[in-house]
Amino acid sequence: MNNNTTTTGLTFDIRLSDRRKTPREREELLENPGFGQVFTDHMVSIRYTEGKGWHDAALEPYGPLSLDPATSALHYAQEIFEGLKAYRHPDGSLASFRPEANAARFNRSAERMAMPALPEELFLKSIELLLEHDGDWVPSKEYFSLYLRPFMISTDVGLGVNNPSRTYVYLLIASPVGSYFSGGVKPVTVWLSKDYTRAAPGGTGAAKFAGNYAASFLAQSQAVEKGCDQVVWLDAREHRWVEEMGGMNLWFVFGEGENARLRTPPLTGTLLPGITRESLLTLAPDLGIPAEEKPLSIEEWREAAESGEMTEVFACGTAAVVTPVGHVKSDDGEFTIGDGTPGPITMRLREELVGLQTGLRKDEHGWITRF
Ligand code: PMP
Repeated sequence: MNNNTTTTGLTFDIRLSDRRKTPREREELLENPGFGQVFTDHMVSIRYTEGKGWHDAALEPYGPLSLDPATSALHYAQEIFEGLKAYRHPDGSLASFRPEANAARFNRSAERMAMPALPEELFLKSIELLLEHDGDWVPSKEYFSLYLRPFMISTDVGLGVNNPSRTYVYLLIASPVGSYFSGGVKPVTVWLSKDYTRAAPGGTGAAKFAGNYAASFLAQSQAVEKGCDQVVWLDAREHRWVEEMGGMNLWFVFGEGENARLRTPPLTGTLLPGITRESLLTLAPDLGIPAEEKPLSIEEWREAAESGEMTEVFACGTAAVVTPVGHVKSDDGEFTIGDGTPGPITMRLREELVGLQTGLRKDEHGWITRF
């Protein structure tokens, strides 16, 4: 069997770019790539047609898509995506952190948006192929990585709004990214958003669906106007229960030293089930720090921070891994967590996760996939 053929019988056509960056151009771009600004030489695409399934799989030159102006995704937003990273381990090999968890979440998002499931094998194969051809784009600098962005859009042409599309395209693009913390780990200030709601019960909050992000930009601008870095979303019914941040899940540390324990809001269907969050639910107890899923109200947040019972707060996600939260602002005023600087539990968990992802720590859970 050709190694570009999957067990489903789908064979990837390999169409190499004749405009690949030279090693020198690539090295220059990798010096300071920022986040999501620079892209590798190729992308992967796979088409789907109802009744026929997935077909026309290819690795092809990275470049613009040609879409009819009446393409359904442009009007009715059937678009889902994922975000994960490939790391260069000290032995030079390429690895990714729990990609099957991203494949599973992609399919849960697809189900919610009435889109077809993509077999896990195709999701993983697309990453393998892209890394096989664009692996030189995975940076070797400390804390740098290659951000992978799998996504799917509906491609039926027409303006009828009654039915989901019958055709789709899955694409995988990749972007080398620098460290979020080039100036050191800086705690963020967050804004408790009471004017806007991210997700309601029965809505799309648990899906990695493009519209959730479109709907969040106005609240994010408001947070910036109030002098904050990020929005914290509250529940839609009471605007009282903490859910998550714009692109990260939240954790609260109670107590300190041997007595430290962690809490994160439960998955109520209105927040994104983060893979970093789920990993910490396992990793923290491994390190002797109990971790529980339990709701937290904004009143409890303020009281526990002011009494000193809550010692640290941090956010977690693929992009920035673990980010300390130093200050909290809302219409009711503001308060500081601890002394506003990154706490020891936050930094320890960050080191553990980064160490695991970058191959400096032993992978005891089978979370690392080598490509
Ligand atoms: N919440 C939201 C809204 C997100 O977009 C993300 C990023 N995917 C997360 C949480 C964190 O998820 P993960 O740990 O899987 O990156």
